[in-house]
Amino acid sequence: MDLAALLLPALIPSWSSVVLLGTFFAYLAAAGSILPGKVVPGAALPDGSRLRYRCNGLVSLLLLVALLGLGAWMDFLRPTIIAERGLELLWTTFTFSTLVTLVLYAAGCNSTSDSSSLKPHLSGNLIHDLWFGIQLNPQFIGIDLKFFFVRAGMMGWLLINLSVLARSVQDGNLSLSMILYQLFCVLYILDYFVYEEYMTSTWDIIAERLGFMLVFGDVVWIPFTFSIQGWWLLRNNVELTTTAAIANCFVFLIGYMVFRGANKQKHVFKRSPKALIWGQPPKVVGGKLLASGYWGIARHCNYLGDLLLALSFSLPCGLSSPVPYFYPIYLLILLIWRERRDEARCAEKYREIWAEYCRLVPWRIFPYLY
Ligand code: NDP
Repeated sequence: MDLAALLLPALIPSWSSVVLLGTFFAYLAAAGSILPGKVVPGAALPDGSRLRYRCNGLVSLLLLVALLGLGAWMDFLRPTIIAERGLELLWTTFTFSTLVTLVLYAAGCNSTSDSSSLKPHLSGNLIHDLWFGIQLNPQFIGIDLKFFFVRAGMMGWLLINLSVLARSVQDGNLSLSMILYQLFCVLYILDYFVYEEYMTSTWDIIAERLGFMLVFGDVVWIPFTFSIQGWWLLRNNVELTTTAAIANCFVFLIGYMVFRGANKQKHVFKRSPKALIWGQPPKVVGGKLLASGYWGIARHCNYLGDLLLALSFSLPCGLSSPVPYFYPIYLLILLIWRERRDEARCAEKYREIWAEYCRLVPWRIFPYLY
């Protein structure tokens, strides 16, 4: 009884973190609905319908950062507030993602819709259905929740990083390592929003249902674990040599080139199958699959680029501890698992065309290795 009385208050999210999170989500919902942005049709769903995504993430993010900067300048808020309340916010977002999962499950079970987006897919296994979700594209007040949560996660990651940076400046221990980590992440996150429309053709958006895996992954996992390097650098000093810093920049640049180049080539190919790839007409298998450019080097070259980028976010922390390498290690496991699932899906969808593509491009992610 006493233990319960002791634990219960600790399990209830603090009011301040609920207000912070609620304000963030309310801002995102309002900005996403009001601000201008290119409206992009999503992939055709099995029933022939297409969702439309308003890609105004970049303008929403820039406005948010400007508003927060103004708030800090006018002494309305402390830029270090997230860095000070990290654990509280982590617990609150985790609680939120659990509640959202339950609501999504209940709403999905009650759905009578027959559309591809809202039709409930119940497997009969409660854990499976909560984890993977039962509806493809659930909505709330006209907002596509899957697109909304991934946007929230990427912006949340940047906000955490900026707060950690402010804390580091406040503590007087801003280092070259912190600057490099922050620079690489800000470029990656801004790039994500510049090319937000490419997200509409990714596996998560077109094929995955919305359950705990995606909600938790987007709003908790992305912002809180991808920023581990920043938190770690707040407490650990790293002396980075100039050569190491330059090599680190190269890993980032090569990773970026491969990651963005591969995703762009596929996106362009899907919309204009005759568009030139590296100045040459594309090599196409069965009229459907691109087999030149990055997609002729490995069947998931985009994953290779992402892995190099992830490594570049950790290298500024040196090699003294495995903790800052959490993200690249996790990503390696995730992308190998994901690549297997995606290959199984493609093999079923494209059949002999996929087999021919695999013959032409034998490497999955790492040329000559895997
Ligand atoms: P992809 O963007 O690679 O999409 C896979 C789909 O692309 C396939 O299902 C197939 O869909 C199509 N496709 C596959 N090969 C070809 C080809 N040769 N020609 C034409 N179409 C092809 O996968 P993801 O959505 O998983 O990843 C997108 C990006 O997001 C990647 O860069 C990945 O690294 C990144 N990512 C990052 C994560 C992180 O935590 N940092 C997590 C997950 C992804 P179709 O049926 O339409 O043909």
